[in-house]
Amino acid sequence: MADRYLSLTGTAPGRFLTRRLGLPQPAALHRWSPDRPALDGPVLHLTAGPSSLDLAPVLARTGLTVTTRRPEDAAAGGPGAGGSRPAAAVLDATGVRDVDTLAGVHAALHPVVRSVAPSGRIVVLGAPLDPADHHQSAAQQALEGFTRSLGKEIGGGRTVNLVRLTDAGAAGSTLRFLLSPRSAYVSGQVIDVLAAAGSARQADAPRADPGRPLAGRTALVTGAARGIGAAVAETLARDGARVVVLDVPQAEQDARSLADRLGGTALTLDVTAADAGERIAAELPDGLDVLVHNAGVTRDRRLVNMPAGRWSSVLDVNLASVLRTTDALLAKGTLRPGGRIVATASIAGLAGNAGQTNYGASKAGIVGLVRSLAPRALAEHGVTVNAVAPGFIETRMTAAIPLFLREAGRRMNSLAQGGLPVDVAETTAWLADPASGAVNGQVVRVCGQSLLGA
Ligand code: NAD
Repeated sequence: MADRYLSLTGTAPGRFLTRRLGLPQPAALHRWSPDRPALDGPVLHLTAGPSSLDLAPVLARTGLTVTTRRPEDAAAGGPGAGGSRPAAAVLDATGVRDVDTLAGVHAALHPVVRSVAPSGRIVVLGAPLDPADHHQSAAQQALEGFTRSLGKEIGGGRTVNLVRLTDAGAAGSTLRFLLSPRSAYVSGQVIDVLAAAGSARQADAPRADPGRPLAGRTALVTGAARGIGAAVAETLARDGARVVVLDVPQAEQDARSLADRLGGTALTLDVTAADAGERIAAELPDGLDVLVHNAGVTRDRRLVNMPAGRWSSVLDVNLASVLRTTDALLAKGTLRPGGRIVATASIAGLAGNAGQTNYGASKAGIVGLVRSLAPRALAEHGVTVNAVAPGFIETRMTAAIPLFLREAGRRMNSLAQGGLPVDVAETTAWLADPASGAVNGQVVRVCGQSLLGA
């Protein structure tokens, strides 16, 4: 279902009218395409407080021109990037330890925030909270409120995210993602990049073909015949993976034609089948590198009107089958070391949603699964476990929502528009990247910073 309001505000008279009426002003987002694969401008490297982070090599690998501004340059004002408008600003705030050094955040960004180009990026880098130092914890936690507030006010399709890290090299894939058009609909997020820094840095060594990080890897995507799953399959194939398109037998034709187009294979089975894990393992005797649990259903009703069958069918597809197949594929060793599991949560699982007690429970369950399994799966199998939590994404699922609720869902986020399946797919591809080994146990919302929920 096309977003007609977004088309209207893309025209000069439409923009004039909607501005006069004080209506939301969604910007046309810059998403990745072969013709425009990178942000259109330099990145400013800013610092607040003392820092020992070695960011230069990591920023160099974004392919963007980097202009470094030290705190003492801030008084000079203006963007200071050779005259051209910066497409991004990275603020290293890892050295912020108290309210005084926190002032450096204001000092660094206040003079430049206006100059960041439309669809630009602000990435704040923070340090893990130090449990032994409540001043440091206060100042670092303050970065979260700062990031989310700036995300809500900045406008123009710009995004603002916070990455907590200890090792810049281990966060390379994350910074490349956030400083690219691939993260167009990811804003207001706090991402911890703290696990397995050493091994992740090795995996982040420059590759022969940086455009195909998944070359030689096999990925399986459930519910991939259409919607978000189909976009995930396409994006992982673009990145070089051999893709197995899994969906129910009724969707066989769509699954096969997508698999043929991507040079992959189709596997038709119901993920709720008791032997689903065994059948997937049998299909992949050489092993699997990327497992994307995307299949999901809604059966909405308020709890007072919800029969047990509507509850159990949603819990079975969205959560129980994910637990069963994950357990089976880890136990059988089908998921190879260096493997990636990406499960699909939802903002309904974080914020709750009327009529979705079953769905909200199932998606919150995914968050619990990810947080608990991630450290063990990494330690025991070398496999990371993360989740994407989509907000309002333009698919058949959301096209079925009644008009007024649908309009509210689309507009009630910082970017004032719905996301596209490809936005979830790009986020999945970043988590699936072999260089993302230090990203583990994260739940990343792809929601344009939806006003709903935490
Ligand atoms: P969709 O209904 O368009 O596609 C879901 C796919 O999963 C279909 O191809 C379907 O056949 C398949 N599927 C369903 N049950 C299955 C089963 N038992 N075994 C195998 N395959 C099965 O949905 P979508 O909008 O693309 O959503 C994909 C995922 O994203 C779901 O987990 C959904 O809960 C989640 N999500 C979507 C949105 C959104 O706005 N669309 C928001 C938050 C979360």
